Amino acid sequence: LVPLAVALALLFGLLAILWLRYGLSMAGEFRAAVRRREISAHYQPVVELATGRCVGAEALARWRRADGSQVSPDVFIPLAERAGLIARVREQVVAAVVRDLGRWLRANAEAHVSINLSASELRSESILQEFEETFRVSGIDCRQIWLEVTETSLIDMAEARPTLVELRRRGHRLAIDDFGTGYSGLSYLQQLRVDILKIDRCFVEVIGSDAATRDVTGLVIALAHQLELDVVAEGVESEAQAAYLRQRGVAYAQGWLFAQPLPADGFLVFWSSQPGR
Ligand code: C2E
Ligand code: CA
Ligand code: CA
Ligand code: CA
Repeated sequence: LVPLAVALALLFGLLAILWLRYGLSMAGEFRAAVRRREISAHYQPVVELATGRCVGAEALARWRRADGSQVSPDVFIPLAERAGLIARVREQVVAAVVRDLGRWLRANAEAHVSINLSASELRSESILQEFEETFRVSGIDCRQIWLEVTETSLIDMAEARPTLVELRRRGHRLAIDDFGTGYSGLSYLQQLRVDILKIDRCFVEVIGSDAATRDVTGLVIALAHQLELDVVAEGVESEAQAAYLRQRGVAYAQGWLFAQPLPADGFLVFWSSQPGR
């Protein structure tokens, strides 16, 4: 038994070292990529459910490693937060939006691009000056830039509120991302005016399964309508899901049924291939 325990301990030790080294090398590589401004963005079309027409896009950060592999933002965004690099990532995503879609935004006053903000970005005021300058210089109307924040990032409302109130005053529309999955309750809705609720994919996934889980989805939609907010459903993959959401009066949706997140040129092709464009 003792040799087995020793062997197991050694194995775990080895695994821990490998994991740590992998993590460290990834962190180092990421830091270098940020320094070289290698963070870019893909754009997932947002469509109007009633007509199927594209009304805008969500910008999603992308990092391609030197070996060509993509790292998921679910991995590198938390890494950026821990390393204090999130503001630089955001700055590169916003720069990508301006460079890739600035002309398109100026030509299509009704269209929007959504940008994701994490909790730590709401704590600093630097975002205010950066946004003011970037959008003024590029001639982009703030009303066309929507900002997505998660419920969890609003837990510290005292810190987040002043920044978000000011951004909204300038015309940005505020969206609650991953709505229904945070642990903050709903009280933040009394403390902060928002414009859009994005229903998390987990509520869309269950459409078509058993009645009880489906009812929760219906409730979340009803709540959003009761609050007189626009609803965007995330992760729509099937026609049945789209039909259900349409029937419930959900205005907008994103998901593989319509389009994957696309590089800028792909997104612009998708946009111009829309009926009536
Ligand atoms: P999110 O904001 O909830 O973005 C939606 C995610 O769902 C994206 O993953 C998108 O590619 C994926 N998705 C879209 N449609 C479908 C579908 O039909 N089915 C399925 N299964 N998935 C779908 P992605 O691009 O990997 O991003 C993951 C998360 O990373 C985002 O979740 C967001 O929280 C975060 N993120 C991405 N870009 C940024 C950024 O610039 N800043 C910050 N702070 N966070 C970001
Ligand atoms: Ca989002
Ligand atoms: Ca989301
Ligand atoms: Ca999500």
